[in-house]
Amino acid sequence: MISLSNQELLDTNITDFIIPSEKVAHVQVGNSLEHALLLLTKSGYSSIPVLDPRFHFQGLISSSLITDSILGLERFEFEQLELKKVEEVMTTDFPTVSLESKFKEAIELLVDHPFLCVISENGYFEGILTRRVVLKHFQRHMYKMS
Ligand code: AMP
Repeated sequence: MISLSNQELLDTNITDFIIPSEKVAHVQVGNSLEHALLLLTKSGYSSIPVLDPRFHFQGLISSSLITDSILGLERFEFEQLELKKVEEVMTTDFPTVSLESKFKEAIELLVDHPFLCVISENGYFEGILTRRVVLKHFQRHMYKMS
C-alpha cells in the first residue's frame, strides 16, 4: 500500500529536479554528424538533445545512431560524418515531459529512458530530468522514512 508521504512524493512536481537547458550539452539540427560525434565523445554522454536555432526541442542524437548511419557494406564511411546533418539521423521517437509533470509520470517513463527532455507549452527546451537525479531523490526519501 502507498502511504500518504509516498503518495505526496509521487505527486511532487518535477520542476525543482530539472537540469536547466544552459547546463545541458546539445547540438543544433544543422550541425554536422562530425560535430555531434565530437561533442558526444568529449562529454561522455550516450545521447544528447537536438534543438533548432530558436531553442525548440527537435529530437535526440546518439553515438550509435551516428555510427549506424555511416555504416556501409564493408566499412564505416567516415567521410559521411562531415556531409550529413544531425537532423537526417536524429530520432524523434522519444517521450517528453512538461513543466507541469509529476514524479509519477516521470518515473514510469524513466524505466525505459535514462533521461527525459522537459518542454514548455510552446515547444521551448527547458532542460532534462535524469534517472540519476530522480533515484537520488528517492534514496533521500527512503532514508528519511527509515
Ligand atoms: P545520468 O543519469 O547523469 O547518468 O545521465 C543519463 C543521461 O542523461 C546521459 O547519458 C546523457 O545522455 C544525459 N545527460 C545527463 N546530463 C546531461 C547534460 N548535462 N547534458 C547533456 N546530456 C546529459
